Amino acid sequence: MDVYVNKPHCTGCSHCFDVCPVAVFEMRDIAQDPDGSKGVINADTAPEDKKWKGVNDPAIYAKWNNDVQKCHDHYKKKSVAVNGSACILCQACLIECEGECITITDDQGQVYQSIYK
Ligand code: SF4
Ligand code: SF4
Repeated sequence: MDVYVNKPHCTGCSHCFDVCPVAVFEMRDIAQDPDGSKGVINADTAPEDKKWKGVNDPAIYAKWNNDVQKCHDHYKKKSVAVNGSACILCQACLIECEGECITITDDQGQVYQSIYK
């Protein structure tokens, strides 16, 4: 199984980290890698156009940067799929992801994309 996060879309909500039963995700502090050049945030298999380069997607940012989220750690961290090979395709993260930014590809090449419910 391959798992990656579209970093500019990730709100840092930690839902994926909280629900995954096999610890595929790690939440990493953007302050450690503000422009993504150090490999802290871009440590999963996200393709080039979905890597962290220091800029959030404006539409997703506007949707989720409200007062409730400001009380939490939104946009201070990004999820990194550090252990995608452990994924058991339970799909819990796929329905919890605010940024609709998780992509999973199974061993047969079938692609699963998160849709927030
Ligand atoms: S689908 Fe995979 S990555 Fe997502 S929560 Fe389940 S085991 Fe974890
Ligand atoms: S659930 Fe989605 S938006 Fe939230 S931290 Fe995980 S990848 Fe990012």
